Amino acid sequence: MMKKNKVILGAVGGTLGAATAVNAVRALKFKPEARDYGTLTPEAVNAERAMAHLSQAISIPTVSYPNKADVDYTQFEKFHAFLEEAYPLLHKTLTREIVNEASLLYRWKGTRDDLDPIAMLAHQDVVPISEGTWDDWTHPPFSGYNDGEFIWGRGALDIKNHLTGVMEAVETLLEEGFQPERDVYLLFGQDEEVVASGEGGAKSIMETLKSRGVHLDSVIDEGGAILPVNVKGVINNKSLVGIGIAEKGYADFEISLRSKGGHSSQPPKHSALGELANVIRDLENHQFQSELKPFVTSLFENIGRNCTYPVRLVTCNLPYLKPVLKTVMKQIPPAASLIRTTTGVTMAEGSPAANVLPQKASVTVNFRMMPGTTIADVENHIHKVVRNKNIEVNILKAKEASKFSPTDSRTFKIIEELCMQESADNIVAPYLVMGGTDACYYEPICENIYRYSPYRASVELLLCTHATNERIPVEAIEPGVAFFKRYIRRVSAE
Ligand SMILES: [Zn+2]
Repeated sequence: MMKKNKVILGAVGGTLGAATAVNAVRALKFKPEARDYGTLTPEAVNAERAMAHLSQAISIPTVSYPNKADVDYTQFEKFHAFLEEAYPLLHKTLTREIVNEASLLYRWKGTRDDLDPIAMLAHQDVVPISEGTWDDWTHPPFSGYNDGEFIWGRGALDIKNHLTGVMEAVETLLEEGFQPERDVYLLFGQDEEVVASGEGGAKSIMETLKSRGVHLDSVIDEGGAILPVNVKGVINNKSLVGIGIAEKGYADFEISLRSKGGHSSQPPKHSALGELANVIRDLENHQFQSELKPFVTSLFENIGRNCTYPVRLVTCNLPYLKPVLKTVMKQIPPAASLIRTTTGVTMAEGSPAANVLPQKASVTVNFRMMPGTTIADVENHIHKVVRNKNIEVNILKAKEASKFSPTDSRTFKIIEELCMQESADNIVAPYLVMGGTDACYYEPICENIYRYSPYRASVELLLCTHATNERIPVEAIEPGVAFFKRYIRRVSAE
């Protein structure tokens, strides 16, 4: 018996050894694909001017609020006047229209009528400064102060950097005598930060273009960025360039239960709020199906190929580890949000007083839908998984998820190429944008919609958007403008 065991062990050991050797070779080969992306063409950028213009743009508080009556449109007028003064050649060459109260539609006429135009998006508005946090800022939020390292203020990263970057690129190209083949539209909405239901500036601009028979070849908007990644021993000095090819949907549902109410001194076994607790448990215990869409596997593959050799011994097996990957991702909330529609129970309401039983109790649940899951699907899901059939379900606010834009389009390939030319250490990966952008409103007139801001910023800095001390590194400005110049040259050509 002993001998037989030894033989079996030996055979197993031999097989394992061979498998390890195969794996070692596979890991060695599992590297970024050797592709020639060409070299970066030099672009002249007046960085001092670009920085000064961004500072000025930040100093005009174009704050948007859900209620239009609260919006100070004179700030938007000031912003428009600033643009006219800062980019004179652009205003001489392009036509400009104001749509809705303050949205901007610029058209740069191309030399070819037979080609679909391209569009570059950004929004003019910024979110307000939370009450009681003004003094927390190192430099005042609407100062646009440049301390030589950062430009400070609301909009520095979301998204006046991108808006002025596009303007600067066009102005410079005009100074150089450049003429696009395709029409180039610059489309700057006024209310991106507050619109979820779709009656905002971006939709009006799209409707205007659609009524004129315009079909866009491609759209570029905010969404992705350049994120330095450095994890000791795992991945060294790489940058993750995320190109948003889709964005999740958004839906707030109010789910309520009614009851007789009455005095809390004589409570029933479960009050309406108590019954509602089971509703919450049903929702949380029955998550939406998760699915590894192709962008998730290609995201992990791209990252996996860029890891150090010891880590690649594992990541080279990713194609075989999909079920494991899915199981692990479901346990990690930020990862789970990439593979399924999320369910977030956020608010609860019972009776208005401590000694009164609720006649109505309700919870608000925020769902973020994967592309492919509709608002109606969410409503069906609620009714399916909640066992209590007495619930009332109301939609408070909702926006459908976008479609997926292709990763084999001309424009996607150009963005990828420009990013890889900039640095071989860039990891370009399509991804899913969690928040909303104006880009999705252009779906009726465009199939190739990409969300990417060519600005390098650490996670720490990105977390300052919509928060205190929003700021952008000054060294990110010049490459941003240069990217937009190259993008216009390439994408506006046939
Ligand atoms: Zn934004």
